[in-house]
Amino acid sequence: MFARRIPTPCFVLLCAALLLPGTGAGCTADTEPGALEAGSVTTERLRHAGGEPESWLAHGGTHAEDRFSRLEQIDRESVHRLGLAWSHDFNLRGGVEATPLMAGDVLYVSGPWSTVEALDARSGTPLWRYDPEVPRLRGLYACCDVVNRGVALHEDRVFVGTLDGRLVALDAATGTPVWEVVTTENDMPYTITGAPRVVEGLIIIGNGGAEYPVRGYVSAYASGTGALVWRTYTVPGNPADGFESEALERAAESWSGEWWLHGGGGTAWDAMAYDPELDLLYIGTGNGSPWSREVRSPGGGDNLYLSSILALRPSDGSLVWHYQTTPGDNWDFTATQPMILADLEIDGRLRKTIMQAPKNGFFYVLDRETGDFISGENYVRVNWADGIDPVTARPREQPIASYHPGPSGDLTPWFFGGHNWQSMSFNPETGLAYFPVHEGGVIYSGAEGPTLFEGIFSVGTGAAFTMVPMGFLLAWDPVAQQEAWRIPLANWWNGGTLSTAGGIVFQGGGDGRFAGYDAESGEVLWEFSSGLGIIAAPISYELDGVQYVTVAAGWGGVGGRTNAPSGEAEAYEQRGRLMTFALDRDTPRPPLFPRSALPDLGALRLDDLGLADDAAALGEGEKLYALNCIICHGQAGSSMGTMPNLQRMAPGTHRIFGDIVHGGRLEVMGMPGFAERLSEEEVALIHGYLVSRIRMAVGEP
Ligand code: CA
Repeated sequence: MFARRIPTPCFVLLCAALLLPGTGAGCTADTEPGALEAGSVTTERLRHAGGEPESWLAHGGTHAEDRFSRLEQIDRESVHRLGLAWSHDFNLRGGVEATPLMAGDVLYVSGPWSTVEALDARSGTPLWRYDPEVPRLRGLYACCDVVNRGVALHEDRVFVGTLDGRLVALDAATGTPVWEVVTTENDMPYTITGAPRVVEGLIIIGNGGAEYPVRGYVSAYASGTGALVWRTYTVPGNPADGFESEALERAAESWSGEWWLHGGGGTAWDAMAYDPELDLLYIGTGNGSPWSREVRSPGGGDNLYLSSILALRPSDGSLVWHYQTTPGDNWDFTATQPMILADLEIDGRLRKTIMQAPKNGFFYVLDRETGDFISGENYVRVNWADGIDPVTARPREQPIASYHPGPSGDLTPWFFGGHNWQSMSFNPETGLAYFPVHEGGVIYSGAEGPTLFEGIFSVGTGAAFTMVPMGFLLAWDPVAQQEAWRIPLANWWNGGTLSTAGGIVFQGGGDGRFAGYDAESGEVLWEFSSGLGIIAAPISYELDGVQYVTVAAGWGGVGGRTNAPSGEAEAYEQRGRLMTFALDRDTPRPPLFPRSALPDLGALRLDDLGLADDAAALGEGEKLYALNCIICHGQAGSSMGTMPNLQRMAPGTHRIFGDIVHGGRLEVMGMPGFAERLSEEEVALIHGYLVSRIRMAVGEP
């Protein structure tokens, strides 16, 4: 970790006090670069973040999380003049899913392994960097990459949740930790990848891990001290231990068997929103642990509050209402996807709504005061249910969706969802919501078959993909509940969106393109080829009268570990890079590194390396690989994301394989030593399996 400089703020409070929409840029321009810190990010300022478009103070832009920038210098006419202003490389392996924040003239962004960087928002000059030094073996518990989706700002502090379950408050001026708390039970395979949210002086943080045996919850800490104020579990625990609340006692009636032994799941790993007028905090909850409801709750039941939107009272975490999108979740259909609060005119009435496009394929519009279902239609092809019953507000599940005793029919959406965590935006002027969607098919084999990554994941079923997945950028009319337009994309795994008052939707893709689309028609108005797959969401801010658009590239996440970037990005090593654009700028794109080719193994053979090559040894190596390596390095070492592709290891690397994997020789580069988990003999079995697969890949038996 290093941290440096930044003088004491002088204009901060004055700026905040005088701040009126559209005037902030002039105010901050009087300060020296980097001098205005987050010190002015008061609770009051967060409440009115939408009136301050020159900043980006909270994860979703505002408490309503609509990701709509009211800046309009970059519009349909001018967007073609957009060019790269500056960029900054993350220099750490792992996907980048973070939405940056901008306060004063400083950008705060998190990278792989929960690192945080502060940069001068005009130039990209690094100001400080914080590394929480997450133990690299913790990556084994990260189902979906060592990512972090962003930080939070409150007063003079930056807050980050770390992959190993800590919540850390940093001094915004220096990056120095002020306090740190462990939010998870560390012997349990919890991880934190989501951004904290700041609600009325509380730091709200959830966690992930429902592909492992964990029980979901969300916690609130006092911003100033780090004291735990409340913790709300999303699923009931063992009734013999007593229930934490009446809401959980009621929920337990919808479970059967000994679900608590499996954890139950329902982790709140990403989406939140807040309505200050109603004083309601909205939390999206995840899938059941394990996925198979026959294993989890053999007598059936809805299994509350899995795959639900929960409205909590932020002062004490008590449940006010809930809406379950997928009763008795059986398919990894999380409702952790982004939620947007907007007031919509529906049937002649202005309704306070909350909208979400969760994994299960339906776009929901609910009354956010009561949780009443208003409408829901499928935004991608859906066959696990044939619609939502308007009377019961429940999906009509179809027989092919069951896989007990198994297998299921060919189901869509697949378990990556019709839409995953990627940010959705809403433009109140077009009335459209914009988000990346994907269509894929899956057959669940049921508990009788081999389960996915047995021993690491405990999902209780196997699953096989049935089609080549496709990705689209979708514009959806939430009032009419119908598609306005969709644009096919090169890859199925793509970035979140930003909408602007200039009539543009910005989005990056798995082919490394960062594009501006006409919000009305979907026409491509501008594009830039970054060469790096993009999955994160852009933001916009203004300094000295200049509107900037910033997006982080960094291939990875669950879809980036199993699937290569496409187009120009396929040719390059995938490392994280933050890129900022403005009109009439043309900074050249910094160099990229070509992907290494499959090596010429020449005489490198199993016996030459002293490795056993009988079928039993190779089978044992494959099993050990699946238990220890597959999470990061993909099937047979063929990682397409940012982790090294083991099939492309140089011959010299093979010679020191044991030193690396057992001895920890590359620990400084993020590769842990596995001496705690594996013997030298076991490492040799893994190596033998990999070499045999590499020889198959290069066509040499
Ligand atoms: Ca999941």
